[in-house]
Amino acid sequence: MTYQIVIIGGGAAGFFAAITCAEANPAARVIILEKTPHVLSKVRISGGGRCNVTNACFDPAELVRQYPRGAAALRGPFTRFQPRDTITWFEQRGVKLKTEADGRVFPISNRSETIVNCLIDAAHAAGVQVRSGVHIRSVAKLDRFVIDLKDADALIADRVLLATGSNPHGYEWAAALGHTIEPPVPSLFTFEIDDARLKDLPGISVEKATVKISGTSLAQTGPVLITHWGLSGPAVLKLSAWAARELAGQHYRAEVLINWLPDFKGDQLQQRLMSIKAELARQSIGASSPLHLPSRLWKRLISAVGIDGDQKWTEVSKRALNDLANELSRGSFLMSGKGAFKEEFVTCGGVRLDEVNFKTMESRRCAGLHFAGEILDIDGVTGGFNFQSAWTTGWLAGRAMNNEQ
Ligand SMILES: Cc1cc2nc3c(=O)[nH]c(=O)nc-3n(C[C@H](O)[C@H](O)[C@H](O)COP(=O)(O)OP(=O)(O)OC[C@H]3O[C@@H](n4cnc5c(N)ncnc54)[C@H](O)[C@@H]3O)c2cc1C
Repeated sequence: MTYQIVIIGGGAAGFFAAITCAEANPAARVIILEKTPHVLSKVRISGGGRCNVTNACFDPAELVRQYPRGAAALRGPFTRFQPRDTITWFEQRGVKLKTEADGRVFPISNRSETIVNCLIDAAHAAGVQVRSGVHIRSVAKLDRFVIDLKDADALIADRVLLATGSNPHGYEWAAALGHTIEPPVPSLFTFEIDDARLKDLPGISVEKATVKISGTSLAQTGPVLITHWGLSGPAVLKLSAWAARELAGQHYRAEVLINWLPDFKGDQLQQRLMSIKAELARQSIGASSPLHLPSRLWKRLISAVGIDGDQKWTEVSKRALNDLANELSRGSFLMSGKGAFKEEFVTCGGVRLDEVNFKTMESRRCAGLHFAGEILDIDGVTGGFNFQSAWTTGWLAGRAMNNEQ
């Protein structure tokens, strides 16, 4: 069977490319080949079942800063298809979206199924064929592309889009067709830390803390959440993305420094502790948390430097207060592994970006072969940015495969 366009991978990027292509040219023969019995399974489980479709970050220059890998390559593509276009795209197809306070965009239904159904309906309406449960043996380029299937005749195609996400076969085919694969490692994970200071405090969060990997300049500031196993929350997840390669190289063992009060600069924190000592002289130091940290965490941190919570502020030596300032601003914790962040995770690594033309998503190594989505060495921090790169690269590939740029 001969097709103009064969899309391998029935995920977010594959569907977006197929719909874009087929809507622009109803005469095109476009087929999606999906390995598993169900298409769009990651969309279905995304965002804790709510699907964080994109982020209301509409300035391409600001948007690219959310991508530890891929920022430069995405700069141009985001001037052509960005979150505003994603929102319009879904709204034009009847999906109502809402933006939450932190910029994340979800369907109003709060159900990822709304997005899945929209994509399936749009593909159907545009005449895209979808074949699931397909076992592809190989993808080769002779005069045209030959896609060898296990249980059916080979398919011939003029153009092929590889949109297989982080699946190893996708990387193998890309490599066999002349591409370099940056080694895949996980991104967006929590930090496992077994430490008495954090024990039995799950659920406690600090609105603004700075988390840093010791010995590097890698640091993130934002909300931090204490969990049963260690640390999570936006600052930790963002740091896991920016430090994905370094942490993988260290087998997820690292010294993590936490500044629980990053708004204090220089010796301001010591000064503040000294003035609190004067103000609350007769109160016991553990009675209240004067710096607005959660009081159970405050008690842990004072006891970590050997201060008894029943001690009066006036009895605490200057040296002990200096130790406390140090603990509050540079607490050292040992990361012993990585944990799962169930709402979203993504792979760092994939097809090397300078081997792809980001106007068309076509390979510079193999004419007629395109890439979109997570198979590329692109990944974003949490917040809808990973789907956005899948929509954008899928849209560009869809237009180009139809010879419209
Ligand atoms: C639990 C979870 C939650 C997430 N939540 C969010 C979120 O809310 N917001 C966000 O922005 N990002 C989220 N992400 C990340 C996001 O899902 C991915 O970045 C995005 O799905 C990538 O799209 P893709 O089409 O490139 O790859 P995928 O969605 O992985 O799709 C690839 C498709 O190709 C198929 N395939 C693979 N190998 C083959 C093969 N050999 N032959 C045929 N088909 C094949 C796969 O079965 C799959 O259907 C989440 C990820 C996870 C794991």
